[in-house]
Amino acid sequence: MSELTALTAAELATKIHTREVTSVEVTRAHLDRIAQADGEYHAFLHVSADQALEAAAAVDSALESGQQPASPLAGVPLALKDVFTTTDMPTTCGSKMLEGWVAPYDATLTARLRAAGIPILGKTNLDEFAMGSSTENSAYGPTRNPWDTSRIPGGSGGGSAAALASNQAPLAIGTDTGGSIRQPAAVTATVGTKPTYGTVSRYGLVACASSLDQGGPCGRTVLDTALLHEVIAGHDPRDSTSREAPVPSVVAAARAGVGGDLRGVRVGVVRELHSDSYQPGVLASFDAAVAVLKELGAEVVEVSCPHFEHALAAYYLILPSEVSSNLARFDAMRYGLRVDDDGKHSADQVMSATRAAGFGPEVKRRIMIGTYALSAGYYDEYYGQALKVRTLISRDFDEAYRTVDVLVSPTSPFTPWKLGEKVDDPLAMYLSDLCTLPTNLAGHPAMSVPSGLSADDGLPVGFQIMAPAMADDRLYRVGAAYEAARGPIA
Ligand code: GLN
Repeated sequence: MSELTALTAAELATKIHTREVTSVEVTRAHLDRIAQADGEYHAFLHVSADQALEAAAAVDSALESGQQPASPLAGVPLALKDVFTTTDMPTTCGSKMLEGWVAPYDATLTARLRAAGIPILGKTNLDEFAMGSSTENSAYGPTRNPWDTSRIPGGSGGGSAAALASNQAPLAIGTDTGGSIRQPAAVTATVGTKPTYGTVSRYGLVACASSLDQGGPCGRTVLDTALLHEVIAGHDPRDSTSREAPVPSVVAAARAGVGGDLRGVRVGVVRELHSDSYQPGVLASFDAAVAVLKELGAEVVEVSCPHFEHALAAYYLILPSEVSSNLARFDAMRYGLRVDDDGKHSADQVMSATRAAGFGPEVKRRIMIGTYALSAGYYDEYYGQALKVRTLISRDFDEAYRTVDVLVSPTSPFTPWKLGEKVDDPLAMYLSDLCTLPTNLAGHPAMSVPSGLSADDGLPVGFQIMAPAMADDRLYRVGAAYEAARGPIA
C-alpha cells in the first residue's frame, strides 16, 4: 500500500500545499489503491479516474502559479455517496430505477467540493435510496467491511465508510436520515458527523425523507471530518430548509480539542440509550470512553430522556410516509427506468411495471407502509401520532440540554454482524438504529468516534456524541479531545 494512502487528509493537504507532493500523485495513489483493493470491498459503484486526475492537475497548476489553495483541503481526494447529483458521473442511489442516470446539474454539495479543489474519486455504494443499515439493500451488491469481509460495513453509507477504512479515500461524504453516517462510521472504526439539520444543502441530494435527510462529512480523524464539514456547510438559497445562521467553527473546535482538557464541559449519559440488550463489548467500550472523558476533566452525569424509547416506532412511520411521497416521482415518465415492452400499455400499466421492476424489496416495503400510514382514516392514528412523539423527543433533548452541554451513548448497540444475518428480519435490522434516530427526529447534530475494538469479538465500536442544534462545534471539541486521549485503536 502506498504510504500516501495511509496519511490523514490534514497531512496530505499540508504536503500538497507546501509542494512536497502533488495532488496528482496523491489522487493517483488512491486510484491505484482502489484498482487493487476494491474488488474485495465493493465500496465504489463508479470510479472517475480521469475527472479526478484532471481536478487534481488543476489544483497543482494553481499552486504552481503561486495562488493560495482554494480551501484547506484543496487537492485532497474524496469519495462521494452515490445519492448526490454529479454531471460527470452517474447517480444511481444504489437502485435499478436510476441505473446509468446522469443528472443535468451538480448538487450544491458537489459544486462546493469542486470549488474547494477536492478531486472526486467516484461514487460510493449504499442501501437503495439510503434505506437500510447494512448496504445489503444496494441493487448492485453489498459492500464488505474492511475489518472482516464476511461482515456488513453498516448502512446506508457503507461504501463511504469502507472506502475510508480501507484507505481508498482519505475523505468521504455520507447522508444521515436515521444514522447512515454514524452507524457505518461506528462499525468501520471511522469518524462521521451528522450536522445540524439545514446546515448542509439538500439541493441535488436525492430525497429519502426530507424532514430528516442531512449530508455530512466522514473521515478517519476528527480533525479531517471538521475540515470537510466546513467545506460543505453553509446557507443555500436553493434549499428551502437551509439555515441562514453562520456555521459553527468546527475546525477551531477540533484543533482546540486535540490535546486539550474537558474541564467545565458537562456530559450527559442517556439512561435510555444504555441497555442490557446491547452487546456487552459495546457497553464496556462505551463505559471506557466515558471514563476517558472524566479523566479529561468533564463532569459526567446521567440524564433521562423518557420518550427516546418511542423513537424507533415514530421514525419508522415518519420515514416511510415521506418516502412514499418522495419516491412517487419515479413514475417512468420523466427519467430513470421505463418498462414498456411493446408501447401498447397505458400510463398506469407502465408505471406499475416500472416500479415493480425498479425498486427492491425494502424500498417497496417502506412505500407500502408509508402509503398506508398516510391514507385517509389512518393518518391521525399513525402519522399524526408519530409527529407528536417527535415533538416529545425534541422536548426531552431540550430538557437534557438545560443541564448538560453534550449527550453521549454508544452509536450502535452492536458491532458489525455477518452479511446475510439480518436480511430476512427487517425489525432486527431497524434495531441497530436505536441510538442514532433521536437526533434525526430533533434535527440535532451528532458524531460517531471510534472507541476501540469490542472485547467480545475484536470488532469496531463507535462512541456517539450529541449536541443541541447549531452547537456542532461541541461535538468536535469533545470528539477531538477524546480521540487524542484514547490513542490509536488497533
Ligand atoms: N438505517 C436507517 C434506515 O434504514 C437510516 C437510514 C439513513 O440514515 N439514510 O432508515
